[in-house]
Amino acid sequence: MAPDLIVLRLGELVLKGKNRHRFEKTVYEQIRKKLQPYDRLTFQRDFGRVYITLNGEPYEEIALRLKTILGLTSFSPVFTAPLELEAVQSVALEAMLKIGRVPDSFKVSVRRVNKSFPYDSQEMNQRVSAAVLRAIPGLKVDVHRPEVELKVELREERALIYSQVEAGAGGFPVGTNGKAMLMLSGGIDSPVAGFLAMRQGLRIEAVHFHSYPYTSERSQQKVKDLVGKLSEYGGDIKLHLVPFTDLQTRVHQSYNQNLLITILRRAMFRITEKLAEANEAMAIVTGESLGQVASQTLASMNVIGRAVDLPVIQPLICMEKQQIIDIAETIDTFAISIQPHEDCCTLFLPPSPSTNPNLRVVMSIEKQMAWLEEEMDRAAQMTETVWIHAGQESKFSSFF
Ligand code: ATP
Ligand code: MG
Repeated sequence: MAPDLIVLRLGELVLKGKNRHRFEKTVYEQIRKKLQPYDRLTFQRDFGRVYITLNGEPYEEIALRLKTILGLTSFSPVFTAPLELEAVQSVALEAMLKIGRVPDSFKVSVRRVNKSFPYDSQEMNQRVSAAVLRAIPGLKVDVHRPEVELKVELREERALIYSQVEAGAGGFPVGTNGKAMLMLSGGIDSPVAGFLAMRQGLRIEAVHFHSYPYTSERSQQKVKDLVGKLSEYGGDIKLHLVPFTDLQTRVHQSYNQNLLITILRRAMFRITEKLAEANEAMAIVTGESLGQVASQTLASMNVIGRAVDLPVIQPLICMEKQQIIDIAETIDTFAISIQPHEDCCTLFLPPSPSTNPNLRVVMSIEKQMAWLEEEMDRAAQMTETVWIHAGQESKFSSFF
C-alpha cells in the first residue's frame, strides 16, 4: 500500500502575524519549485500545513526532495480510508505495519472533523487501538509517552491516517533574513557554516580565495562542487573566485615573520567586505571554531575580525569537531571536503605563526605596505564570478 498524500508542517512556531505569513508563503513556493517535475501532484494549503496529493507519483523520491527544503519542519506519508469503521481500522493497521518494526508503545489520536461520523473521537480511539493491538502482539498502549502516535483525522469525505513523522531540514526559508558572504575554503568547516547560515534564513554568496597557479584548477572545482551541494538547499548560489596570488606574493616579499598569516587573513576579510558592499550583503560568514587551529584563538580572531566593519558570523564557533563532521555528512559535503586539495593559506607559511597577535603591531606593519589597499582593490576587481545551479544529478541527503 503506497501513501495517498503527504502532510507537511511548516516550521518556526515562534513566528507571529505578518512574519509567519511571509515565512509560509516562501516555504510553499520552495515546495512547489522543488516538486515541479512531478506534474500529477496537487497541492492544498491549510494553516501552517500543506497537503500534497500524490496521484500515483513516487513517495520516496519526493520525500528526499522535501528533506532539502529549509523551513519545512516535518512531514508524514498519509493513507486514506473511506469513512467506515472497518476500513479505518484496517488502514490504521497497515499504517502501523508500514513503520517496518514493532514499536514498544503507541497511542491512537482521533480527531473527528466530520461530526456526522457515528462514533466520537474517544470511542474511535478505543476501537482503532483494539484492532491494532489484536493484530500486533507485544505492542502496548502508552498515552503519555508513546513511541509512535497513530493519527486518524475523520474529515468530511474520508479519513486521513498516519503514523510516521519524518524530520525536515527545519529553520527558516532561504533569504528571509537577508544576505551574507560566506568565506568558503575547500575544508570541512566552512560548507557546514554556510549550510547553518542558510538554515537561519540567510541567502549566501560564496567567496573563495585561490593562489592559482600554485593551487590547482582541481581545488577550484572542489569548491564549485561544495557550492553545488549547498545550492540543493539554497537555490542557485553566486561564487566569487578571488585571485590572491599577487597580493600574497607581495606581502610575503615585504614581510615574512610570525604575523604573515594574520595579515593575509585580514586582507581576505577586507576583500570579502568589498565584495559584500558591491553585492549588498550585510554580514560575513566563516567556518571558525574556537581553539581548533592556531589562527582560531580568541586573540587571533579578534585581530582578524577587526579588519572589517560588517558583522562576522561564525556558526561553528562553539561546536565540537565531531558535531561539525556529522552535519557535513548529513548535507553530503564531507566526502568532497576530504578530497586532497591545496589551500591558498598554506602557500607561504611563516616559521611560527603567531597565536597571540597584537592589533597595534599588525596595523603598523600594514601601514608600511602603502600599496596594500590598491592590491586588495585589484583582487576584488579581478574576481571571477560564476553562478552555481542546483545540479539535478546530485545526491540528496536523507538523514534529517
Ligand atoms: P575550513 O575547514 O572551513 O577550511 P579550517 O578549520 O581549515 O576551516 P582555517 O583554515 O583557519 O580553518 O580557516 C578559517 C575560515 O577562514 C574558514 O572556515 C573559511 O571561512 C575561511 N577561509 C579559509 N581559507 C579560505 C579560502 N581559501 N577562501 C575563502 N575562505 C577561506
Ligand atoms: Mg581550511
